[in-house]
Amino acid sequence: MKKALVLGGGFAGVQAAIDLQKTKIFDVTLMSDRDYLFLYPTSIWIPTRESTFDNAKISLRDIQKANGFRLVIDMVKEIRTYEQIVIGGTGTLHYDFLVIGIGAGKMMPAGHEHTLSICGSPESSLAIRDRLDALIERGAGSIAVGFGGNPKDVSAVRGGPAFELMFNIETMLKKKKIRDKFTLTFFAPMAEPGARMGKKALSMIDTMFTTSGILHRYGKKIQAFTPLGVTFEDGSQLDADLVVFIAGAAGPSVFRSSDLHLNDAGFIKIDDHCLVEGTTNVYAVGDSAAIEGPGWRAKQGHTAEVMARVAVFNIAAIERHETERKGYKEHLSIMCIMDTGNGAAFVYRDSTKNFVIPLPVIGHWLKQAWGTYTKLTKTGRMPRIPGV
Ligand SMILES: Cc1cc2nc3c(=O)[nH]c(=O)nc-3n(C[C@H](O)[C@H](O)[C@H](O)COP(=O)(O)OP(=O)(O)OC[C@H]3O[C@@H](n4cnc5c(N)ncnc54)[C@H](O)[C@@H]3O)c2cc1C
Repeated sequence: MKKALVLGGGFAGVQAAIDLQKTKIFDVTLMSDRDYLFLYPTSIWIPTRESTFDNAKISLRDIQKANGFRLVIDMVKEIRTYEQIVIGGTGTLHYDFLVIGIGAGKMMPAGHEHTLSICGSPESSLAIRDRLDALIERGAGSIAVGFGGNPKDVSAVRGGPAFELMFNIETMLKKKKIRDKFTLTFFAPMAEPGARMGKKALSMIDTMFTTSGILHRYGKKIQAFTPLGVTFEDGSQLDADLVVFIAGAAGPSVFRSSDLHLNDAGFIKIDDHCLVEGTTNVYAVGDSAAIEGPGWRAKQGHTAEVMARVAVFNIAAIERHETERKGYKEHLSIMCIMDTGNGAAFVYRDSTKNFVIPLPVIGHWLKQAWGTYTKLTKTGRMPRIPGV
């Protein structure tokens, strides 16, 4: 049997390993530096204590047991496609087919050490929680939440969780009856943060900020973060006790020490079949890949899974000497349940449609139910509903 090696135990890598194993024509190994899949979409509730760190984790060993592939917990140090090897911290793995899905790295703006990110290491969600706890204990304070982009790749920006976290903090403070003691400010260097979700979503966010008294600073480039808050390029300052900032994404550093073709932002260049440029047996899926397509395209969990399925279909077709191939671009969409702590809105965009459905109360429970569903299906305790 040929060896199929999958790198990364996130949405992309796990989906690829499960689907490769299902073909029954490969010896499949999943290699990841963490022994759990982190459910980033539901991790937004860790800082506000509505959920726990453990609740956002799915053990990769449980997923492995349910699906049967091999699991190696190790960090990828270098990928050498010409030699068909991956060098890890504790050993080297050979492959016939490789699927790369180790997610994205982050840009490092000046003074980033004075900020915390809800999109960084899973543990940063706990650090935000502890800083929020301390401010609540103090009884008053100012909190700034924002996000930035990467000018070298329009898809390397993640604003949704910043909005969600801000709304959840506001809801939590209201529940504790101390909202009036806190100043909440949302900031972003672009004039219309969140514009990729479409005009309806933008106007909904605007209305929600106004009704909940959340201030905003848009369209000012960030010069640096300091212990006092944020300094903008025009010299103005946003003072804050706590700054949560999601920096623009960039390709992980391990890609630069590998023989991969990268775009200017450091993501792996692929074709529509998710095949890595210049190779015949290496695929890149999820946040690691340089996604091409419409200006509103986004790196999202469901896109990562679609890309993994596309890559596995094409790998299996090659192995079976079949000519049919699948592409990921026709499946590009934005799909998210944007949570507010007491409700949510379903935001959808593809090449033909763009709509927002407000889901007061039920949206919040739907997103929680998605977390449970994902845990049950990935560990084989419930069959997956087609298309969900
Ligand atoms: C707070 C937050 C909320 C989000 N909400 C939504 C949402 O509501 N809907 C949605 O669709 N998307 C959402 N996203 C985006 C979504 O989570 C990502 O697009 C998705 O996780 C990408 O999957 P991935 O497998 O490509 O990368 P990741 O999930 O980042 O997984 C990468 C994996 O690779 C491993 N890894 C990294 N480096 C190495 C290395 N050197 N060696 C070995 N292993 C390595 C990591 O441990 C991890 O297991 C959200 C993201 C965040 C951060």
